[in-house]
Amino acid sequence: MSLAADPSGAYQAFYRRSIDDPEGFWAEQAQLIDWQQPFTQVVDTSRPPFAKWFVGGQTNLCHNAVDRHAAAHPDRAALIWVSTEVDQTRQWSFAELQREVEAMAAILRAQGIGQGDRVLIYCPMVPEAVFGMLACARLGAIHSVVFGGFASHSLAGRIDDCAPKLILSCDAGSRAGKVQAYQPLLEEALRLCAHQVPKLLWIDRGLVPIEWRTDRDLDYARERERVAGERVPCVWLESNAVSYTLYTSGTTGRPKGVQRDVGGYAVALAASMKHIFDGRPGETYFSTSDIGWVVGHSYIVYGPLIAGMATLMVEGLPTRPDPGIWWRLVEQYKVSVMFSAPTAVRVLRKADPKYLHEADLSSLRALFLAGEPLDEPTARWIRDELGRPVIDNYWQTETGWPILTLARGVAPMQERLGSPGVPMYGYRCVLVDPETGAELQEPGQKGVLAIDHPLPPGCLQTVWGDDERFVKTYWSSIPGPQRYSTFDVALRDADGYTFILGRSDDVINVAGHRLGTREIEESISSHPGVAEVAVVGRADELKGQVAVAFVVPKDSAALEGEGAQVLQQGVMHCVQSQLGAVARPAQVITVAALPKTRSGKLLRRAIQAICESREPGDLSTIEDPAALMALAERLRQTGAQ
Ligand code: AMP
Repeated sequence: MSLAADPSGAYQAFYRRSIDDPEGFWAEQAQLIDWQQPFTQVVDTSRPPFAKWFVGGQTNLCHNAVDRHAAAHPDRAALIWVSTEVDQTRQWSFAELQREVEAMAAILRAQGIGQGDRVLIYCPMVPEAVFGMLACARLGAIHSVVFGGFASHSLAGRIDDCAPKLILSCDAGSRAGKVQAYQPLLEEALRLCAHQVPKLLWIDRGLVPIEWRTDRDLDYARERERVAGERVPCVWLESNAVSYTLYTSGTTGRPKGVQRDVGGYAVALAASMKHIFDGRPGETYFSTSDIGWVVGHSYIVYGPLIAGMATLMVEGLPTRPDPGIWWRLVEQYKVSVMFSAPTAVRVLRKADPKYLHEADLSSLRALFLAGEPLDEPTARWIRDELGRPVIDNYWQTETGWPILTLARGVAPMQERLGSPGVPMYGYRCVLVDPETGAELQEPGQKGVLAIDHPLPPGCLQTVWGDDERFVKTYWSSIPGPQRYSTFDVALRDADGYTFILGRSDDVINVAGHRLGTREIEESISSHPGVAEVAVVGRADELKGQVAVAFVVPKDSAALEGEGAQVLQQGVMHCVQSQLGAVARPAQVITVAALPKTRSGKLLRRAIQAICESREPGDLSTIEDPAALMALAERLRQTGAQ
């Protein structure tokens, strides 16, 4: 560990203890939450790469996030919801939040939902989605939140995989003042999937009419009246019961359901709120993410509430009604900890800095940024303008909380621009050569960032319904000893700071959203005019990366001119309607052929390099160099290079 990052050496001692004495370390951290029944074993590592944390302990996420604070501080603010889209603000104290969650739990219970049953939540940023998540946690039901920006095809795949008994959804969301109806997308998804969903519970915001099907649909407002006053106790769950699944993209076209436990997750979040985010009970936490992503799960919903903080949830864009909105919210709600993404900061950087300076930000202690690489100019700008520490933190849907960052709640630590920091307690991070599996010890050596077994509490237990996929995907890609691969390439400098250089697989990161290029390719392949397709990520100043699709038309008349334009629009529409606007390529380029190896493998990295005006690298295996040259020429013509 570096002296530069940790001048006092206090973090190093803390980290070492987590690695040398994980049982003692985590048993101590486990005291940050309530246990109905104490655990008998801190960690069971008898079946690697699986790990079970706090075996035999009984607890409940909702109890720790809501009930215990409602008992101790009933009137303290718990959830603050601001919508700049529908111009509304609502606030719940812990006692009020408990009542709302009990009402939602009573509605679910009346539909026969209990421990282990799945509930899919497909909602915009509405408070009822949070009630739904916490109600599931209360009952021991497993929630699976699907990002509201995903469209029918993505949704259908997730419905089929988690087979929910009920879907909680909403008439509509709103983005930049444009109402987006959810029902047509959900109905289409239900047509596409094989699983029959018995019940849909609708939140009617009055934005668009809902077409009710009486045998299937429930009206949340009406059901809420029906269950008024019913009490629903928390179900005590063994620590390793499943709390939720959250789908994420990988190398294949089929998203994986990241599955998480109850006790380990609660402890990991409670510990991170203390040691990393330094959030204190009674203060306000503001994460600008969406509940559909892991940051939303961990740091809009569970983390801040477990820590006894108010969580500020915002439906709206950072630039509406003007780019000062987030800073005014920080002032108004005296936010002490804020969490956002580099893309949002890049958007705000384009606006007049007066917006930032007009607000009183004295309550704010630090800004945390994650989800994508934080470039130095963006980091420097926001740090200088805010005059507060800006803390990059690197993690994944799979881990649920930061892998690399600075634990400022443990000791004063020094940030270094361009690096998220150092390994967090509990993570046995190693850099390895992806070809040989050899550990890389020298500063500056590039390798895949891997983590040795066991992963700390809070990380994924497995892939939902597919232990084999969990082992094969995450624990078998590196030769040598079994290690978890992050699929990120990284290097460590002489002071021990780790720098993330990019993905080693076919995952791209668009404005902090993780997308699999295979998923986008599969969607484009379903277009009748497309013979072949390759999707790559191209560096983008604002969004970090954007998707670019190279399409070989079935009909060569669609290579140029009007035919090409029609095909390009058709492809864009296809992706938008199947996967959602987040996955829509920034550019669709028609080409006569795609560059491949002699064994028929797509030379995706070479295509990407050309898109980013870099050398295409080793081309010794290329079947037809002319295809690559033609592609480069095509890019030049379109002005994309
Ligand atoms: P997700 O699972 O959607 O959170 O995406 C995780 C991936 O996003 C990581 O594997 C990285 O590729 C990237 N990522 C997340 N946070 C950072 C960060 N702070 N710096 C660089 N890359 C990041």
